[in-house]
Amino acid sequence: MTDEGLEKEYKTVWDNALESLKTSLPPSTYEPWITPLKPVEPKEEQYKKGVFVIKSDQAFGVSHLNQKFLPEIQAAVNKAMGKEIPVEIVFVPSNVKKAPKKKFKPNEEIVLMQEQIDNLKQMHSFCALNLKYTFENFVKGENSKVAYDAAKMVSKAPGQKFNPLFITGSVGLGKTHLMQAIGHDILKNFPKLKVKYAKTEEFTNQLVDSCRNGSDSYNEMRKFREQYRNVDVLLLDDIQFAEGKKRTEEEIFNTFDALFHAGKQIVFASDRPIETFEKTPDRLKSRYEWGLSVEIKPPSLETRIEIIKKHARRANYEIADDVAEFLAKNYSKNIRELEGAYNKVSAYASIQGLELNVKTAKEILGFRENQRKITTDDIIKKCAEYFGTTAELIKGSQRSSEIKSARQAAIYLTRQILDLSFPVIAQSFNKNHTTILYSYEKLKKDIELNPTLKENLEEIENLIRN
Ligand code: ADP
Ligand code: MG
Repeated sequence: MTDEGLEKEYKTVWDNALESLKTSLPPSTYEPWITPLKPVEPKEEQYKKGVFVIKSDQAFGVSHLNQKFLPEIQAAVNKAMGKEIPVEIVFVPSNVKKAPKKKFKPNEEIVLMQEQIDNLKQMHSFCALNLKYTFENFVKGENSKVAYDAAKMVSKAPGQKFNPLFITGSVGLGKTHLMQAIGHDILKNFPKLKVKYAKTEEFTNQLVDSCRNGSDSYNEMRKFREQYRNVDVLLLDDIQFAEGKKRTEEEIFNTFDALFHAGKQIVFASDRPIETFEKTPDRLKSRYEWGLSVEIKPPSLETRIEIIKKHARRANYEIADDVAEFLAKNYSKNIRELEGAYNKVSAYASIQGLELNVKTAKEILGFRENQRKITTDDIIKKCAEYFGTTAELIKGSQRSSEIKSARQAAIYLTRQILDLSFPVIAQSFNKNHTTILYSYEKLKKDIELNPTLKENLEEIENLIRN
């Protein structure tokens, strides 16, 4: 058959395939996803003999189509063809620049203006991003490897890999940094794409404002939606803030669907895992879980040292190894606090003209030499006071709820603060070591799911240390 004949045949096959896809897929899928597809013609470079190649001009959509609808499309093409033929869906950019109309002479000034508008749009996106929060400034440790790699992949192919990407991890561990690094990288790799970064609190406030605006609320709402839907990449931070806020969650749900179906990339960050979103409706929770969820864990001592060294280097300062280690050892849970401690010591040292060594760092941060040594009994005593019971009862075997909570907290904090082995802790609590191990592991799990519990334990820990 001639190329022309083939071309015609492919077109008819595709028209017939479309007929059956129209009945087998819901309109909400068929319209946005299937109608823009066209079969590749023999004269086109993507044409492959013996393969039914279909093209899409939406780069973001191709992987989604391949993942979700390929079997249906394959079946429809086979049926229309009357035999089996492998189907491939490929991205072929359409000629975006339309030929100028006849009378219109392309004017260099206008082209230039368009470029300026593009640049301004990009700058606008950049403005919401912190210039420090780039991949280059992020230390990839064993705690953040998976999250870092996923973020990199998303920034190389927005909308095509993991959608949404959901980043979790406790406060101060680099979620916002990584999320904004995606934004920076996309703006660098794809200067035409529109990136929007926002905190969920800001999203909620704007939503409330636009609903409130009386007679003009329709217009305000339209403007609000445009801001969040007329983008290629939406980075929505601190999504835990939305939990249980009905109107906000509903708007996030609709924004998500609008963006997702247009093949746009969405990234969420939360300081709690998705499982803890008890008040969030299931349909939104399932959207959160649709793509990939990655967790940033607390970094090891080595990673913390590297982070603080990098942070100092950004200010053109080579911090001494022992000072970096001293800081990293004493600030282990939150990188923001670790950086804060460094900023404080370096500022004081430079104002006072002191050399920054471990001794000056300790003085500036108010660390007393020979600090009082904490014992297991101190911990038991503080936990007893906190829960309104006594040290004797904690060490005993009664199981009323206050005593149990106090005992569990004391076991957990003894392990956390003193880093003792379970058999040694068991002796102090008059228990056997499997009981201690079980109690420790149980509380550790509960903390992950319950932020209030975590805060209470931090409060007790502060009482013990001070
Ligand atoms: P989160 O959003 O998780 O609360 P942030 O992203 O705001 O935390 O990070 C807090 C601070 O710690 C920021 O200044 C960030 O640059 C820094 N930080 C966190 N993790 C890293 C890392 N792996 N490498 C470099 N800096 C980091
Ligand atoms: Mg943050």
